[in-house]
Amino acid sequence: MQTQLVNITSEALAQAGALIRSGELVAFPTETVYGLGANALDAAAVKRIFEAKGRPGDNPLIVHISHLDQLAPLIAVKPSPMARALMDACWPGPMTLIFPKSEAVPMAVTAGLDTVAVRFPAHPAARALIDAARRPIAAPSANRSGRPSPTTAQHVLEDMDGRIPLILDGGACDVGLESTVIDVTGDIPRILRPGGVTPERIAAICGGVRVDDAVMRPLREGEKPRSPGMKYRHYAPRGQLTIVQGESDAVTQRINELYDAAIERGQSPLILALDPHLPAYAPRRALSLGPDAAGMAHALFNALRDADALGADVLFSEAVPADGVGLAVMNRLGRAAAFHIIEV
Ligand code: AMP
Ligand code: MG
Repeated sequence: MQTQLVNITSEALAQAGALIRSGELVAFPTETVYGLGANALDAAAVKRIFEAKGRPGDNPLIVHISHLDQLAPLIAVKPSPMARALMDACWPGPMTLIFPKSEAVPMAVTAGLDTVAVRFPAHPAARALIDAARRPIAAPSANRSGRPSPTTAQHVLEDMDGRIPLILDGGACDVGLESTVIDVTGDIPRILRPGGVTPERIAAICGGVRVDDAVMRPLREGEKPRSPGMKYRHYAPRGQLTIVQGESDAVTQRINELYDAAIERGQSPLILALDPHLPAYAPRRALSLGPDAAGMAHALFNALRDADALGADVLFSEAVPADGVGLAVMNRLGRAAAFHIIEV
């Protein structure tokens, strides 16, 4: 199959909408990462997503809508007051809510679960595509399974060339990390996956929030997480990643020691660090993670891909405090490192 990469024009959107209606896949930009979309109401189309990504069949997809009135047909009961408050405050935006699913949603989308994840994205191209398709669009991130999520159309092409017919190129994504996934089926919102909408913000809206305890640790043998995607080693660069956490001078010193030891062993190490700390690693090879936690959210997946392109076989990264958007950053970084974290 030939993969076309096109700028977003009204013709491109019309072509993309027609592809989705005919059961094909289209990659498209959102404010979080690039998505790989199919008609959410067509089980055969949805199965193609799993094939193209090499995604395990028990990892459910998020259904994307472009108008609030597309929600009711997807869910079994009316949104609770808590869910409504979150929708009013954070939609359109980088927030996914888990509801009991309706009959209309194929089991292929929810991986057999009786709940469905729904998001109303803010990105105009994502919404225009859903409008053009005239159907809700099921879409995971547009990477091959296990690879870092794509934040540019070029990343999508790297992973999906020859596997899908069309990529809509909308430039680099804003947030750079996937949406916050919140289970709203209980009394208190429960964060299953942290993202751009922070726990602090959710607590302010709902008067409380719970962060699923699987967010910041590896899963136990045989454990069934509430968010099935948590089971998999996501976001992984090809090199072995270690996170070093602690007071900044001690972190720099330890990373430099680890780097030098890796060179001694004949390895090809790489450091991932916040901008202000980069000079402390010179003349060693280091990539910027941006100025702060929000910058790091934006830069992280790109840096992990760059690390692969540079042929790094061992990586050492600084940590950020796990509050605000830092929780999402540390969740992704932790998973990329298989939670191999050194405290100094
Ligand atoms: P991706 O779009 O690739 O970032 O993956 C979507 C993630 O959303 C999955 O890995 C799941 O962890 C989560 N998710 C989707 N549907 C559900 C659901 N019904 N219940 C819990 N988590 C879900
Ligand atoms: Mg993904």
